[in-house]
Amino acid sequence: MAETTLFTRIINREISAEIIYEDDLCIVINDISPQAPVHMLVIPRKPIAKLADAGEDDKSLLGHLMWVAGEVARQAGVAESFRLVVNNGLGAGQTVFHLHLHVLADSQADSKSSETFSESNI
Ligand code: AMP
Repeated sequence: MAETTLFTRIINREISAEIIYEDDLCIVINDISPQAPVHMLVIPRKPIAKLADAGEDDKSLLGHLMWVAGEVARQAGVAESFRLVVNNGLGAGQTVFHLHLHVLADSQADSKSSETFSESNI
């Protein structure tokens, strides 16, 4: 049987986290070790290990995760300027094998849209 992932334990409230959004398909938390002033993780309830493991039947879920990323960016006031990152596999720096989208932004992004935001280790 597959091992329960860290993020599934957060979803099941066995481990605490700052939950900033949730619906029937996914949850969004603040990253415990932020690489930018705004660093959120969009995590599907379905424990797909990595993006390349997503199946044909996961297409609408993947689209939903993208939409949620935009939605929480709007809520955080950074919709004009944010980055979306998915690390796929050990070699790409993935450490938690439960698919997640990193949403990274400068907290002032919407008020200084002429500047660029690109720094982070993600
Ligand atoms: P990745 O390296 O792409 O697999 O990203 C995993 C992310 O999960 C890292 O940015 C970690 O800081 C973050 N993370 C690990 N444990 C927790 C936790 N308990 N709560 C929130 N974020 C976490």
